[in-house]
Amino acid sequence: MKKVCYLIVLLFLVNPIISRTYAWIYPEHREMALHGIKKLSPENRKKLDKLWRLARTGYESRLHESVIDETNTISPTLIDFAAWPAISGDHSVSAKDMLNTVLHSDWILSVASIANELKIALAESWNSNSRNNALRNSDLLLQRADPAYATRAGHNNVHFLLSLYSMVQTEKEYFWQCVKPDAELNAIGVYVWYHYSALLKASIVATQKLSDRDKNALILSAFADEAFALHFLEDITAAGHLAGTWGNASQKKGSHDYYNEHGIKTITWEG
Ligand SMILES: [Zn+2]
Repeated sequence: MKKVCYLIVLLFLVNPIISRTYAWIYPEHREMALHGIKKLSPENRKKLDKLWRLARTGYESRLHESVIDETNTISPTLIDFAAWPAISGDHSVSAKDMLNTVLHSDWILSVASIANELKIALAESWNSNSRNNALRNSDLLLQRADPAYATRAGHNNVHFLLSLYSMVQTEKEYFWQCVKPDAELNAIGVYVWYHYSALLKASIVATQKLSDRDKNALILSAFADEAFALHFLEDITAAGHLAGTWGNASQKKGSHDYYNEHGIKTITWEG
């Protein structure tokens, strides 16, 4: 919470008909997870690899043998864990939905390859126009691969932060505002909910006697919860999700895109 910025103004979502306005796009969400995992200590990485091996039991034809796939295959036939936070939220509405999509849908492989092509197109972009063209092209392709892609975003404000209700609100008060039972859906609340659920499942795996089948299923489910949580943890760090604006859909989209591109000046609770 200490890093959560003080100037949290307003949540918003753009009219999905215009275009998607994700703070982090699929390849960025995936890169963050991938680099996070690469930074684990060798000891923790070994533990994670072992859990991943158990989680993918029975799903070897869909889940990559490594928790992170660093082969840079443009059209992957297997999905790694690093892709799960990218699929969460933007291509699914819950951890369960995300896991089901990863394990059983064919279209998610198309989404993964469109995302890889977008990553290359962005790396080769030379100015904001070419970047925008790459993003709009991928939006159209993603919409074709995942027909619910645009409309899914308009359901609520879950990818954004709640506004402060007072300029003297403390960190603890703000946190409670995000997680209390009747809170409007928001990124911090969803992060906490799913991260807590993942920890709970992990603690059951660690402390209770389970059959191998139940244990593997619970590990897989914990991975899904944590991936879904990570999507929203990553969203919290996007400037366009801190600084919204009032007004119609085009104004909101403009502010969102502007702050995501240029950043925002903020003050932390610690000053
Ligand atoms: Zn998001």
